Amino acid sequence: MNLDILAIAAHPDDVEQSCGGTLIKLAEKGYRTGVLDLTAGDMGTRGTPEERLEEAEQAARVMLLSHRENLRFPDARLENAISARMSLALKIRELKPRVVILPYWKGRHPDHYHTSELGYEACFLAGLKKLDPYSEPHRPFKILYCAVYANIQPSFVVDISAQFERRMTALLTYRSQFTACSEGKELFPDEPEIRERLGAIARYYGNLVGVRYGEAFVMKETMLVEDIVALGGRSI
Ligand SMILES: [Zn+2]
Repeated sequence: MNLDILAIAAHPDDVEQSCGGTLIKLAEKGYRTGVLDLTAGDMGTRGTPEERLEEAEQAARVMLLSHRENLRFPDARLENAISARMSLALKIRELKPRVVILPYWKGRHPDHYHTSELGYEACFLAGLKKLDPYSEPHRPFKILYCAVYANIQPSFVVDISAQFERRMTALLTYRSQFTACSEGKELFPDEPEIRERLGAIARYYGNLVGVRYGEAFVMKETMLVEDIVALGGRSI
């Protein structure tokens, strides 16, 4: 399978809160998009892993993904261990993405920053010819980081004004996480609260580039520009 873009995330419902609008936009343009969730959220306060996997499948359809898979690594104790790096590297060789989106390398939840490091190192390993004799080497061309839980200076913002509502619909398919219920109320906002929270974040990043809703990305390398006349984002 040759994917154009693959987002790698720690938990089902992470992508729906971070880069889901961009994935929807790219799928609408005809690109093949995919998501690899590393854990099924089995340490989560609410819902069972089976419920979350079913919800993730529904959300995948809403986000127009060509591929979504859960690697069932252990939730909340995700480690950048050699076995995890190897499994992920072989999966990257199989899916052959040109662009990989990872969580930002800092954050509150250890699974998020471990996924960032694990994802980067797996992308590197995937390109080594001698890693595994049964699969072709493949190294993604571009690695981007999306951040919704960290205070970052974005390298660029994607306009998701036309995709925001569909991303919201995808997130709300996780009924086990976001419906009103007394258990874990402090950690798990209900629908009006999550809508306001994610709306505020997307509005903030959108405002930085003069659009309604935006998703922010960071890249470590300097951006190469071919045509400065076509650059987006008004200066004054
Ligand atoms: Zn998460």
